[in-house]
Amino acid sequence: MANQLGDEAQLHKIAEQISAERIEQDIRTLVAFGTRHTLSETKSDKRGIGAARRWVKAEFDKISAECGGCLEVRFQSGVIKGEKRIPNATDVVSVIAIQKGQTDPSRYVVMSGDIDSRVSDVMDATSDAPGANDNASGVAGVLEAARVLSQYHFHGSIVYAALAGEEQGLFGGKIMAEQAVKDGWRVKAVLNNDMIGNSSGINGVMDNTSARLFSEGTRAVETAEEAMRRRFTGGEVDSPSRNLARYIDVIADRYIPNLDTMMVYRLDRYGRGGHHRPFNEAGFPAIRIMETNEHYDRQHQDLRTENGIVYGDTIDGVDFNYAAKLTALNAVSLASMAWAPSPPAKVEIHGAVEPHTRLTWAPAKGEEANMLKGYKIYWRYTDQPQWQFSRFVGKVNEFTLKNVIIDNYFFGVASVAQNGIESPVVFPGAAGSFGE
Ligand SMILES: [Zn+2]
Repeated sequence: MANQLGDEAQLHKIAEQISAERIEQDIRTLVAFGTRHTLSETKSDKRGIGAARRWVKAEFDKISAECGGCLEVRFQSGVIKGEKRIPNATDVVSVIAIQKGQTDPSRYVVMSGDIDSRVSDVMDATSDAPGANDNASGVAGVLEAARVLSQYHFHGSIVYAALAGEEQGLFGGKIMAEQAVKDGWRVKAVLNNDMIGNSSGINGVMDNTSARLFSEGTRAVETAEEAMRRRFTGGEVDSPSRNLARYIDVIADRYIPNLDTMMVYRLDRYGRGGHHRPFNEAGFPAIRIMETNEHYDRQHQDLRTENGIVYGDTIDGVDFNYAAKLTALNAVSLASMAWAPSPPAKVEIHGAVEPHTRLTWAPAKGEEANMLKGYKIYWRYTDQPQWQFSRFVGKVNEFTLKNVIIDNYFFGVASVAQNGIESPVVFPGAAGSFGE
């Protein structure tokens, strides 16, 4: 029996339902395919990327069978060729499972991990490439979130994605983002999990109580005109992706014991890439969730021992309890956003040379309006990372904050459901828009 549309107690329950044992099992299964390199063989049922993706699909199908067919499970593929890391025509095949929302199904939140793996030579498709942390941990997290969240009903839709071709050039994410645009998906969040199980870093730090949230500060799709306007009105650190990161930072504080998130104000690690980027490039809010302390001897390495140093992304480098903690952070964040109303659209702000600040936004549509309790205005000093002040203003579409001067703060608006669950905060104008 699926639970009714949720509340805060259910968000706590979701966090507690995530199992480190099941995550360990799934990472072991993925590692046992030997290599999951994008160019590896696809015929065998024991070894290579074909076997791995068929197993992930079968696992989603099993989860769906247990919730009465609540997931639409499919392969999503595209033929890539003529690329530096994919020279010959290759099917890049992701596996996605969609849990349709009850009242606003065209609104989506996505959790992703990457199914492929690699060793030192990015073109080596035959050597053992266990990819235990990079990124079986992310795929195992996605499967576990699907197992738990498929026991509930949500207003908006949730997508669980095992994306292909990441190491060869972010192809699976690009294919999925382009399809989402074509299909008119209103994507409000992509939580890209890339390496969520390493708690013992190359820097000697051992830490299982923090995680990093990487997000772009300004939107990849910003026009020159919008950038010029932003120069005068602010918004350098208030893209929808950044406000998505702020939302998840609060979720960690409220629902995940012994986990604090570090919001990193950059798209990704210095000079490095991840699968949230193609979603940003398609205009969607998307962030990277990952461990705080990476270990480079256990990433993209041939399995070997050299000068007494053991190299390779093997299972013994994965901290399953830590991966479970980050998976719980994802699951609660997805549930909270899918139970909340859609983030407010068309948020605008007024108040230059006035004693008051006035915010306006578009009314909620259809069934969303029925589950809406109202809106909450947030503001903060311009040098603060998190929203500091808030005021619930009811079911209105404009509000004036008396004697609050527009120049001295950044402002935003969130939607609040009847049960109190809130959407992310939307910064005004094109700089902060989460879309319609
Ligand atoms: Zn990698």
